[in-house]
Amino acid sequence: MTSEAEVYEAEKKECQEKVTSIDWESDELRSALLEWMCPECGSGLIDVQAATADRWTAVFQCRSCGKQWEFEDAAEKAVEDYFPERISAPLRMAENRVR
Ligand SMILES: [Zn+2]
Repeated sequence: MTSEAEVYEAEKKECQEKVTSIDWESDELRSALLEWMCPECGSGLIDVQAATADRWTAVFQCRSCGKQWEFEDAAEKAVEDYFPERISAPLRMAENRVR
């Protein structure tokens, strides 16, 4: 007998292993992506689609609602969620608004 929580944990682990298998060149970025929840549905099951170790071509997909993000999008959102006070994330694109 398998509970829903166990299924979720197993899938979460699978997703996290894929995230971990890519070289993010940053521990903070990896941590942020591992903990990232889907902004659309709140699921923590963010899968990596592209079978590649190159972070620039990685594509993320939420297993729950199917939404996809490219690396830059995902990284920016994940880092914002994970480090809400640290706007100056290394990946952040040039900002128009200066605080
Ligand atoms: Zn989702």
